[in-house]
Amino acid sequence: MQFKKIIHAIGMCGSLLLAACNNDSHNTNQNSDTQKALQPIVIQGALPVESEQMAAKLTNATVETVGGWKFWKGTYQGYPVIISKTRMGMSNAAAATAIAIERYKPIAIINQGTSGGHDPELKVYDIVLGRYTTNIGAFRTPKKALGEGSNALEWNEAFDVLPDDESDPEPIAIRKFEADAELLTAAHRAQNNYTQGNVVEGTIGSADVWNNELDRIAFFHKNYATSVEEMEAASVAQIASQFKVPFLGIRVLSNNITNGGAYDAGTGEACQHYVLDVVVEYMKAKQAALK
Ligand code: SAH
Repeated sequence: MQFKKIIHAIGMCGSLLLAACNNDSHNTNQNSDTQKALQPIVIQGALPVESEQMAAKLTNATVETVGGWKFWKGTYQGYPVIISKTRMGMSNAAAATAIAIERYKPIAIINQGTSGGHDPELKVYDIVLGRYTTNIGAFRTPKKALGEGSNALEWNEAFDVLPDDESDPEPIAIRKFEADAELLTAAHRAQNNYTQGNVVEGTIGSADVWNNELDRIAFFHKNYATSVEEMEAASVAQIASQFKVPFLGIRVLSNNITNGGAYDAGTGEACQHYVLDVVVEYMKAKQAALK
């Protein structure tokens, strides 16, 4: 089936301009029957620099705004895609995720964007595929009396906000959300196209905190095995898990203070390009499985 289509496409290219065969609308027409059967994939970015590049690449895009959250609906290389601008932080990310799942019934969700390095081996422009995503903002602190101060390096008890045992009011555990295996496979298939840095698997840590204390960052790297930190992915992973929607976090390092990696604004755009390649790999595999 796919082979026949390729032959057909080659035939068309022979009689038409070659450039016309590479554009998105052409692909849309060619594959529309099978691709309509797929539910859309949601790709999230918190900031305009983490979402608008992808939105601009959609074909036949329409915009929907729900509350304060913006969604662009369209196709990319014929596949149904929703780009979601979540805004920053855990609550915004959770709300945008729940809205997207209820409204668009997505086949999967990718949360992507910039991040700060926790691993000194990782350089700005490297990309971390979140095999694990974890909340680094939930704790039960030690008890200290008035005047005894506060030391975050002593916060050794992670608070699991989604415990299996709902009757436990103080569940202490580092909860890690595992990436969907098919999304991870698609991300690896696309990684050869990414030339601006390395693509590695790792752990993404999320909280409504921007950590600039190197001892604090080393604490998370050691105890949570974090590769990078940012402010959304674990919240999205948590909501996606509650709805049983496949999830993957993909984060480019825009900064890494553990090795002097200065902030680079171009990283957000680089990550969006890569993520669109991941989407094509994933949707291609899903489409093939339909046949
Ligand atoms: N100039 C900033 C703007 C981003 S502000 C930059 O470095 O990109 C915070 C947003 O960027 C959040 O949505 C978060 O997910 C991400 N982010 C990038 N680096 C981060 C870091 N070191 N710590 C926390 N969040 C970070």
